[in-house]
Amino acid sequence: MRSDPAGVGNPLRTDVMKFHIKTYGCQMNERDSNAAAALLERHGHAPADAEREADVVIVNTCSVRGKAEDKARGKLGLLIAGKTGRRGRLVGAMGCMAQRLGPAILEEVPGLDFAVGTHRLAALPFVLERAAAGRGPASDTAEDRPGRDKRRRHFRPGISAFVNILLGCNRACSYCVVPQVRGREWSRTVSNVVEEVRALAAAGVREVTLLGQSVMSYGRANAVCPDGCPSARGYTEPLPRLLEAVNAVAGIERIRFASGHPSGCAPELARAMAELPAVCEHLHLPLQSGCDRILAGMRRGYSAEDYRQAIRRLRAAVPGIAVTTDIIVGYPTETAEEFEQTRRFMDEIGFDNAFIFKYSPRPGTPAAEEADDAPAAEKRRRNQTLLDDQNRRNLAIHRALVGRQLEALVEGVSPRNERRWTGRTRTNKVVVFEPVPGLAPGSLVNVEIRQAWAQTLFGVVAGGAAKPESRHGSVA
Ligand code: SF4
Repeated sequence: MRSDPAGVGNPLRTDVMKFHIKTYGCQMNERDSNAAAALLERHGHAPADAEREADVVIVNTCSVRGKAEDKARGKLGLLIAGKTGRRGRLVGAMGCMAQRLGPAILEEVPGLDFAVGTHRLAALPFVLERAAAGRGPASDTAEDRPGRDKRRRHFRPGISAFVNILLGCNRACSYCVVPQVRGREWSRTVSNVVEEVRALAAAGVREVTLLGQSVMSYGRANAVCPDGCPSARGYTEPLPRLLEAVNAVAGIERIRFASGHPSGCAPELARAMAELPAVCEHLHLPLQSGCDRILAGMRRGYSAEDYRQAIRRLRAAVPGIAVTTDIIVGYPTETAEEFEQTRRFMDEIGFDNAFIFKYSPRPGTPAAEEADDAPAAEKRRRNQTLLDDQNRRNLAIHRALVGRQLEALVEGVSPRNERRWTGRTRTNKVVVFEPVPGLAPGSLVNVEIRQAWAQTLFGVVAGGAAKPESRHGSVA
């Protein structure tokens, strides 16, 4: 530990600090947490084995719904209250809530030591070290100042990795805070992304998920990286070209991308998904509502029929493709009958999984100006109804897979049962199986499915070629 130049009496942690990052929200945040951890390690700090052992705990916040912010505030409050028993511990925030609130987060969350916005991830070690040096609460949520370390790769390799290819969003969905907190769209160039994927493959990564808030807009935005990165200026190639380039990287067995938009499900993309062997038969395509009036109110830019056509195109090109989605219930003015339209539409499509959210107004969005008129109990009912429907659907889809052999990318020992191993199918289903000699994380095995639950498949490792998973849903 160093001396205390600020003379504030805190033990200074400008030497090696053990850190722990608690992540809320989406895959983008998971990727940012990985990047933040790699960045801190490069600055000489070390990950703690558990939160209780950490000198610094960082909460990576999500702003997508009020509940997500409430969770982050609750966690921060607990951590800050716990600081009295942990002299010298620092508590910080990063992510969308930190970006949305700016420096005001230090006032809104008394006791918070530092905060870094989504646009300023590269500044994290410096902001942390400033707080650790006892120079008072520190934040960096600026929109456009060049970041230090901005051109380095930030990753912590595992079997799977997230790779940001498109940041920000140019759409203007009425309820969404992302354009405020992540800024205008900008795409990394194909060569820049491929360079990162090659490095990941060399470090043992077998599966990459290419991320963007509206990932099918990749390459379209004539924007400049907010950190001024010269490799990200101007137009780049569209998503199918990027998929081809990543597919050619040796060692990468699987490619996923998220999140999609129906307008991006063009024939060229469907063709790329069909023809490129590493591209998995899975797409996350948020629907949000099956009612045209609500979709128009949400400014989603498509109708239910547009969505149906997009799914038809994909399923014609990629038989067996799994489609997962997001749904919002209780959007302002949504009637019970309009909710039933969504329910019927979900059945028609036959989603493989769905993330269902109760609407909550986000400050500064157009939807927040409308009355949040669905009572909480009614939102809960609609939410639970869709969850029950989806559970039944999952179970039926999974039961149809019993007896088949599916390719699984091995992740390792099951976190719930150390005598079993776990992996994922190409359609992103969790499969649990008995270990066999020579099994290693990152290997591909065929698993014969013996039992199906709504969220998990169970099987045994088998020889032979994997067969495609079943076609389901009534849209073909
Ligand atoms: S597409 Fe809409 S919901 Fe998705 S990030 Fe962009 S503005 Fe938000």
